[in-house]
Amino acid sequence: MRIILLGPPGSGKGTQAELIQKKYGFPKISTGDLLRRAVREGTILGQEAGVQMNRGELVSDELVAAIVKEKVSSPECHRGYVLDGFPRNLAQARILEKIERDRLETALEIVIGEEMLLERLTTRRSCIRCEAIFNQKARPPKKEGICDACGGKLIRREDDSPEVVKERLRVYQEQTEPLRAYYQARKIYHGVDGSTDVVTVFASVASIIDRELAKLGREFS
Ligand code: AMP
Repeated sequence: MRIILLGPPGSGKGTQAELIQKKYGFPKISTGDLLRRAVREGTILGQEAGVQMNRGELVSDELVAAIVKEKVSSPECHRGYVLDGFPRNLAQARILEKIERDRLETALEIVIGEEMLLERLTTRRSCIRCEAIFNQKARPPKKEGICDACGGKLIRREDDSPEVVKERLRVYQEQTEPLRAYYQARKIYHGVDGSTDVVTVFASVASIIDRELAKLGREFS
């Protein structure tokens, strides 16, 4: 199964993807994490993507699609995977359909208002080493500034600054929101209220995944 997580920056996609990975064993493929790593390591890919990322713009479809293609072909993704941050526009959604055509997919959107997003993004902190996500208010680490999972340093992402956040939200509305209608038309769309706490959101997410997995089981039995 392929789970497509949709939702604006700050909606909690990354956190929910981590929880899905933990409970179901579907690896999380976060294009944002992979691109940030490439930027940190100074690879050619990172040099190409870094400028657009710092402005809150999308990097090229070809570049991101190549990353996703490589990841999904790894043995750990054989049973399924969660996509966090891909597709980001209709062109990418069409590319994705051509990658593993027979893979059953479900699109899950975390729906949340703009005011809450801004508050969450400015208090968000990420681990520089393992990309685990924390929030100073809602999900603080046990030790300030240090990642619970790996002991790495927690930082505010450069693109979580107020000016860049505004641009990222604009890009989301313009380019990514149309995917809702696209997946609704394909009858694989599910919306989840993202305004509550992580545990409550995950309960809704998990109940949808359980239902979809049960359907899969019926199809193959
Ligand atoms: P994220 O961590 O998902 O918020 O992504 C951070 C940044 O990485 C975005 O603002 C884009 O510049 C870039 N990015 C991540 N995923 C994609 C994608 N699927 N297509 C284009 N750019 C992306």
